[in-house]
Amino acid sequence: MEEVATEVMACKKCGLSKKRRNPVPGEGDLDADVLFIGEAPGYWEDVKGKPFVGSAGEILDEMLSKIGLSRNKVYIANILKCRPPENRDPSVSEVKDCVPYLDQQIKIIKPKIIVTLGRHSTSYILSRCGLEGAGIEKLHGGKYAVELLGFKVLLIPMYHPAAVLYNPKYRSALERDFQLLRGELERLGCL
Ligand code: URA
Ligand code: SF4
Repeated sequence: MEEVATEVMACKKCGLSKKRRNPVPGEGDLDADVLFIGEAPGYWEDVKGKPFVGSAGEILDEMLSKIGLSRNKVYIANILKCRPPENRDPSVSEVKDCVPYLDQQIKIIKPKIIVTLGRHSTSYILSRCGLEGAGIEKLHGGKYAVELLGFKVLLIPMYHPAAVLYNPKYRSALERDFQLLRGELERLGCL
């Protein structure tokens, strides 16, 4: 994982390398049972070089603590490792350039559960499993046993925590989806 981070720190594969302050490789427990995959660093992540440390991170922390899962027991990564200007959506070519790092991280961690936060990470992981991407509105609230990069994993797609900031109606959906995660972790004997 250190090698992946070192490569990310020096990466100039896409144009986002020019404007970033700090790349954000990801952080957490290498033996984590759960891997969270977000979209891309925002303002504070770019400043600090760490994932989910801004206002979306506060929501994520709140959801984690509600199910008694501590942040240092999970791994948190993103599809893109560098911040897109004004937090715009990742472009197709940026995703293509950057996802080999995420694939390596998935292979190193081999999590039992992958939680994709938002439509970008959900559609990438589904495409990697050879599945058609239904929308996040339909997929969230469910759990999907998939084969990814040669091993079995349970995929639990959720709304992005930032959605709660834009529209509070997403809070209860996110809370319910974290309860589903808690149930699965208990079932697997991980909590
Ligand atoms: N949003 C993301 O998708 N990832 C982060 O790391 C922070 C905000
Ligand atoms: Fe490299 Fe990814 Fe950063 Fe682009 S976003 S420069 S591919 S690490």
